[in-house]
Amino acid sequence: AREALFQSQKMETIGQLTGGVAHDFNNLLMAIIGSLELVRKRLPDDPKTLALLDNAMQGAQRGATLTKRMLAFARRQKLHLEPVDVPALVRGMADLLERSLGSTVVVETLFPLSLAKVQTDPNQLELALLNLAVNARDAMPNGGTISIAARGAKVTDTNSELSPGDYICLSVHDEGEGMDAETLGRAVEPFFTTKGVGKGTGLGLSMVHGIMKQSDGQLVLQSEIGKGTSAELWLPVISEPMKTAAEDVSTPQKDHG
Ligand code: ADP
Repeated sequence: AREALFQSQKMETIGQLTGGVAHDFNNLLMAIIGSLELVRKRLPDDPKTLALLDNAMQGAQRGATLTKRMLAFARRQKLHLEPVDVPALVRGMADLLERSLGSTVVVETLFPLSLAKVQTDPNQLELALLNLAVNARDAMPNGGTISIAARGAKVTDTNSELSPGDYICLSVHDEGEGMDAETLGRAVEPFFTTKGVGKGTGLGLSMVHGIMKQSDGQLVLQSEIGKGTSAELWLPVISEPMKTAAEDVSTPQKDHG
């Protein structure tokens, strides 16, 4: 069965908690580093003791680097929203995607002839898409096809996390290993990663989720073990008197990028 995940406010809360903890930790580590520096100045030149002290100092410094990264994550800047042409943005990323993904995967794009613009931060949307594409690549160690598609869609359900209205759904689909229910349930949590130390930060999807929230949109993940994963970015169409997104979806056109 396909698993669907609709993210809630929970992640913002975790992000804020992370920021708070990182801040306290950073202050503690700064105090530890300061004290260690003082001790070092007063110590006689015993090489063994100095080596131990250096170890402690390096550990504290590594911790400080980590907490700074966590702080930067928690303080993600506010987005600068503007009308964005999604297919044009994706086409403009062709080089970046090629360079970032390597040659093991093929990227296919599928867009309708014309598509309404969305209200988002184009730089952040690029970052989000790059993160999704890298995850798709990582899920296919033996290579495969990543399909990036966009379509117009309507939300009518008032119980939805999204307000009713017109949206563009930008999706990144892979034919990779997929996620089990537990991984899917936790994928968006900050610092959750299955990629191992030094490989994953666990911040990619959390960041994508944050960007969607700030654009009044939503990240929707669907995955099936052994089959693959779809990550959908739902973004509201800008409200100006123009044709609706829904009538644009009838003539999809395939182009390879
Ligand atoms: P990271 O990529 O650093 O691990 P993410 O937040 O981007 O951090 O992803 C968290 C986890 O979600 C990944 O470690 C992986 O287990 C899972 N995941 C994300 N995207 C995919 C995908 N396309 N296919 C399979 N698993 C995925």
